[in-house]
Amino acid sequence: MTKKEVILQLRKQGTSIRNIAWKAGVAKSYVTRVIKAEKENSQIQPRKKRCPECGRLILMPCAACLAEKEKKLTIKQRIPLNIGVSDTPIFIA
Ligand SMILES: [Zn+2]
Repeated sequence: MTKKEVILQLRKQGTSIRNIAWKAGVAKSYVTRVIKAEKENSQIQPRKKRCPECGRLILMPCAACLAEKEKKLTIKQRIPLNIGVSDTPIFIA
């Protein structure tokens, strides 16, 4: 039986999260995540990390920093518009 199964079985029996964590030898946050994932029928969410660039508590990679980089890139790559610039070349004597 995996720890996940132990957690879910104990939960079905009405055991408190703190007790489950103690019995299964895992962190309370892990118990919460396992139960939440089971409820939503989804994968266990990985633990959130602090982004080294912006300091937000996020799931790596940081979506905010990726978006920021994307923005900077498009600004750099933008071709300058020659509005108001004469077509005839100007010669400086
Ligand atoms: Zn970030």
